[in-house]
Amino acid sequence: MAVSSIPARPGDPTARPARAPRRQRGEGQWALGHREPLNANERTKKDDDPLNVRARIENIYAHQGFASIDPADLRGRFRWWGLYTQRKAGIDGGRTAVLEPHELEDEHFMLRVRVDGGQLDLAQLRTVAEISREFARDTADITDRQNIQFHWIRVEDMPEIWRRLEAVGLQTTEACGDCPRVVLGSPVAGVAEAELLDPAPALDEIVRRYVGNPDFSNLPRKFKTSISWLVDTPYEANDVAFLGVEHPDHGPGFDVWVGGGLSTNPMLAKRLGVWVPLAEVPDVWAGVVGIFRDYGYRRLRNRARLKFLVADWGVERFREVLEKEYLGRALLDGPAPELPEKPVDHIGVHRQRDGRHYVGAAPVVGRVSGGQLARLADVIEAHGSGRIRLTPYQKLLVLDVPAERTEPLIDALREIGLEARPSAWRRGTMACTGLEYCKLAIVETKARGEELVARLEERLRDFDADISIHLNGCPNACARTQVADIGLKGQLVVGPDGRQVEGFQVHLGGGLGMAEGQTAGFGRKLRGLKTTAEELPPYVERLARRYLAGRRAGE
Ligand code: SF4
Repeated sequence: MAVSSIPARPGDPTARPARAPRRQRGEGQWALGHREPLNANERTKKDDDPLNVRARIENIYAHQGFASIDPADLRGRFRWWGLYTQRKAGIDGGRTAVLEPHELEDEHFMLRVRVDGGQLDLAQLRTVAEISREFARDTADITDRQNIQFHWIRVEDMPEIWRRLEAVGLQTTEACGDCPRVVLGSPVAGVAEAELLDPAPALDEIVRRYVGNPDFSNLPRKFKTSISWLVDTPYEANDVAFLGVEHPDHGPGFDVWVGGGLSTNPMLAKRLGVWVPLAEVPDVWAGVVGIFRDYGYRRLRNRARLKFLVADWGVERFREVLEKEYLGRALLDGPAPELPEKPVDHIGVHRQRDGRHYVGAAPVVGRVSGGQLARLADVIEAHGSGRIRLTPYQKLLVLDVPAERTEPLIDALREIGLEARPSAWRRGTMACTGLEYCKLAIVETKARGEELVARLEERLRDFDADISIHLNGCPNACARTQVADIGLKGQLVVGPDGRQVEGFQVHLGGGLGMAEGQTAGFGRKLRGLKTTAEELPPYVERLARRYLAGRRAGE
């Protein structure tokens, strides 16, 4: 019998007192009275609203340079204006975890421009191209959240960059940070034949009312939103998502999902079971964000996303708090939306509801350049279009093309490196920022993704199935590791000579936005399933060949 299990004799002075029941540690929830910061990030936000850093950038740092920047601004509040320090060149992934932030960072920034709903007109496209060429060494990535991301930005140039962006209606406000990030929207909102209700007015209203609003500039962590009629965004991976659905009595409106998020503890969003008309979407959105601000966990950064609260509360309680404490009324029960067999990516030529066409084209892993975007602006203008949309799959669409101009447009896009009839590999491959610029990265991703696509196009040109391959430089899963057919999580692995080298853990068979019977879910992560980065192309080729040899008819 273990000593500790002997009951203490009454009056025994050596006996330990019975252990008092453990007190529940506070999670730092404001609504429960926890207002004192429990970690350095919370302290930074409490000390000064991060939105205030814009004035310091314009009035002080842009004049006095990088060295003058307060560290709490540099590594904290700058993010609320879309700015992260970028990784110093030449530091390998093995040193990511051991170096101090200042040793890892370069004196340049990554700058994220939010493109809510992915919508860009000609003037905006030309401005982005011009900024890329003048201030960002010709870099520009289309991210998987419909943003544009520049690199090599200097703090000295920020006032001029903001001036140019804002002159054409673009902004970097809350493009990063613990606040409402860019709102994902259907890239075909307002033009698709299959769309019954254009969600753009709700999306625009949310951005107008709440982005840059101090009421929501201090959330426990980032907050991601998706609003679409069609299943053409990864809605289940968002903190809140509004997905189109027709109510039998009330007509078209939106089904609401909460608590999705990937990263290191992936969870898919859950349906609240309510139906919300278009006009009420902004209020319901603000109610969900309000719950997150007030009840969200603020003690540990890795438990601070809304998904943890939803997991602990359950959707019934979440809905009740939303209705009673934030909206002051009950929401209507709603039907579940019909989900397609697979998410729509809009690549190729499609008819719009006005009879014109949109053309979806693929760069490789979302990488474009300022020069390419400038040429794109000229090309689309010459073919009768005045606007493009970015997609959450690192692709772009050209809208409003007259039927007779689609084929010449496809040829012209091809000449500038954008392919409207891409191989399955180019179409399905995405990559996060990775080691080239990201301070958290362990593995290079963009160049490896380009190399992978080239190799597979050469070796398996006629591969005829849809396939998604998502390369991520670390476990943070910015390019959605867990929901790809082949999800790749960057990590160090043991190389052929026994030394640690860049590599990937492989997740197989994940997916989002699928019909019943093909339920959305996470890929299986198998401990032994790893490859070195160098061996990635032959590894994926072997997987693909095995799939082709073993697939059933119609699969
Ligand atoms: Fe950086 Fe990791 Fe996100 Fe890739 S997944 S962009 S490496 S944090």
